[in-house]
Amino acid sequence: MKWPILLLPLLVLVFAEDELPLAELCDEEQCKLPECRCSSTDIPGGLPARDTPQFVLLTFDDGVNTVNMPTYRSILYGRRNSNNCPIGVTYFVNHEYTDYTLTNELYNMGFEIALHSISHQTPQDYWRDATYDDMMREFGDQIIQMSHFGSIPRDTIKGIRIPFLQLAGNETYRMMADANLLYDCTWPTISHTDPGLWPYTLHYASIQDCQIPPCPTASVPGPWILPMIAWFDLNNTPCSMVDACFFIPDRENEEEWFKFIVGNFERHYLGNRAPFGFYVHEWFIRAYPAVQRALVRFMDLVNSLNDAYMVNAHEVIEWVQNPVPVNEYARRACRHTVPSPCRQTSCGPVRAEHTENLYYMQVCSACPNVYPWLGNPLGN
Ligand code: ZN
Repeated sequence: MKWPILLLPLLVLVFAEDELPLAELCDEEQCKLPECRCSSTDIPGGLPARDTPQFVLLTFDDGVNTVNMPTYRSILYGRRNSNNCPIGVTYFVNHEYTDYTLTNELYNMGFEIALHSISHQTPQDYWRDATYDDMMREFGDQIIQMSHFGSIPRDTIKGIRIPFLQLAGNETYRMMADANLLYDCTWPTISHTDPGLWPYTLHYASIQDCQIPPCPTASVPGPWILPMIAWFDLNNTPCSMVDACFFIPDRENEEEWFKFIVGNFERHYLGNRAPFGFYVHEWFIRAYPAVQRALVRFMDLVNSLNDAYMVNAHEVIEWVQNPVPVNEYARRACRHTVPSPCRQTSCGPVRAEHTENLYYMQVCSACPNVYPWLGNPLGN
């Protein structure tokens, strides 16, 4: 009978090696802005909804290249919010088939360049099972890669979205804390949509529903969660990416699409004003011109409202850290991006070491020796 008692501490030690202790329930007294926020649908700063800016986050995933740039240039450039400040848009960019000179152009236009991994590899289980080291090679190293090839200032790279929205438990967030990344926009919620879940930190246990496990369970001070609040399609089925909604209006019907978008927007705007996400891939709005026109009409609507703002994703986190009423927010100085020069260089053919493929790259730096990849993000 003595053995089990002796064995118990040993077992705890074995578990402790890969299983971090569970985070505690959030303590509102201990967890204070700007560093800490409990997961909650409460509006930051205790503001009433009518005084809260309705942030609108338009994000595009995957490679930036000559295929998708015409859309970005034609519908986003020169667009302004009602306070005459340029709008924000966030790009979650993965490395393969990205033209870094065009990524640099998007940055110089004032948009946010965020990370979507170096490899974006399949199968999805790779991401589910990713270790701390895997995540550091996919995202930590991508900061170095993006700043080098795209001439994007390192300290402006703040956010990530994991491919396939596949969370990897605590490891992602431990990596983010160490790599000094501010926020993750990967985690969908379908339970906290009305009222919507505002961004929060992982100092304490999260109340968020875990749709694509494993979700983080440990206390990881530092990074913020920017929840992907689901849309609801015409059949009330939740969807995290607009192009993944199933029961949608006819893709040729602009009017129905406009109503569909506005209907989802109003759940936020007429509710607790949690940030509204329009999360999409460019191919979807390129393939369906009526959808694109509906998006443009929606942006025109948002840009005419004096309490709704299209912003870069990291600006939402910064507002949550230091919430101010919308009338004060509207009067603030606009974001100012100092253009980062790009010495455009065409490279190739560049041989990949992980496959036998040859690649052509457009970069703002000297050409790499081999195709940059995991473990060799600069292609030395
Ligand atoms: Zn992707």
